[in-house]
Amino acid sequence: PTNHQSLSARQLHVKFSGFTALDGVSLDVRPGRVTAVVGPNGAGKSTLFHCLAGTLRPAGGSVLLGGRDITRAAAHARTRLGVARTFQQLAVFPSLTVAENVQVGAEQGRIADPGAVERALRLLGLDGPVRALPAAGLPTGTLRRVELARALAGSPRVLLLDEPAAGLDTGEVTALARVLRALAADGMALLVVEHDLDLVAGLAHTVHVMAAGRIVTSGPADRVLETGSAG
Ligand code: ADP
Ligand code: MG
Repeated sequence: PTNHQSLSARQLHVKFSGFTALDGVSLDVRPGRVTAVVGPNGAGKSTLFHCLAGTLRPAGGSVLLGGRDITRAAAHARTRLGVARTFQQLAVFPSLTVAENVQVGAEQGRIADPGAVERALRLLGLDGPVRALPAAGLPTGTLRRVELARALAGSPRVLLLDEPAAGLDTGEVTALARVLRALAADGMALLVVEHDLDLVAGLAHTVHVMAAGRIVTSGPADRVLETGSAG
């Protein structure tokens, strides 16, 4: 469907005071698919994520959305274009209620659709009494769902998740995987940067393994993760 778009990295290069963090990274985040990036700490996963989200400008290469060059678009502009993200360090407003936090996502997103707010709350199981509670003091698992609902409330075409399973228990990881698969089945393009390989194995269609700023292996999740090359 025309509503869906690919997000692509083309030959991204990033240096931090002489240290090469990304050394020519290219990948496609396609509609209807969950694309995963795995690899050891320091591989460059978050650096790649920041280039796609617009919080870091690469020294070389480009980022394309539906074929359009958005390399120079700021993070908030990408959100407006339909590239939503969650944060590895949770970034909810503590004094706002769950529902108000999700409403903020709708206002910052591609379309401010009140229906999308309610759908996101329902999809993440936040449509009960918890919707009226302040975010402050809620457990990590609930706050991660608030974050994801906030990202979805803006009706994104592309969803970027950095370490979405961090701090979740096994049951919560299973529930998260179910939600993310449903979003992909609906046509959304998802990128998951994650070192929980159990989540990736049960979720991703395509896996890219990064090491030292490069993609060293790519392929279907079952093949890439079975070879053991993901470490
Ligand atoms: P990953 O997410 O795979 O663990 P990162 O992308 O966070 O890896 O980091 C890749 C490398 O770049 C690491 O060696 C890290 O120390 C370095 N790095 C990341 N961000 C910065 C920064 N802002 N300044 C300097 N070095 C950085
Ligand atoms: Mg990281």
